[in-house]
Amino acid sequence: MRIHVSQELRQPVGSESVMELRQRSLFLDDGADLSELEGTARMLRTDRGLLVTVAARATLRGTCSRCLAAAESPIEIAFQEEFIPVIDPVSGKHITPDEIDEGFVIDGELVLDLGEPLRQYALMSEPSKPLCRPDCAGLCPTCGANLNEGPCGCPPAAEDRWGALAALNKEKEGS
Ligand SMILES: [Zn+2]
Ligand SMILES: [Zn+2]
Repeated sequence: MRIHVSQELRQPVGSESVMELRQRSLFLDDGADLSELEGTARMLRTDRGLLVTVAARATLRGTCSRCLAAAESPIEIAFQEEFIPVIDPVSGKHITPDEIDEGFVIDGELVLDLGEPLRQYALMSEPSKPLCRPDCAGLCPTCGANLNEGPCGCPPAAEDRWGALAALNKEKEGS
């Protein structure tokens, strides 16, 4: 999500502008992507660059923690990051790298790329155990079949064992 910010950088320190964000899809990593991102980016001119405050909603498509199918979770992305230009927006003079500590930069074309911070913050907002649906039945621990597609035919081993054990204990207590 690349935004041309030469206008914003030419404003005096303290000036603010607001930009609508809208993105159909954004690749996050091998297991996840974002879709239907909507929100705003407020840009405040600082003495070093632009302080960007993002507030957005999106749908994160990840992997169900029970059955490994696709799982969609609505998420909110909110962050504030300062972006420092690598060149002076007025003189075009390069700013030496040690003036830019770790963090985000505005490139030599005065383009600010929100893709990377959106990616990082979206992954942080992902639910720890996403589900494809609230009642996902998961995979059979014995044969690995997806139980959402119906019973696999394996005996419900764990439950039976516990049942037998409970019965045994009852017998002992009774004697
Ligand atoms: Zn699932
Ligand atoms: Zn099975």
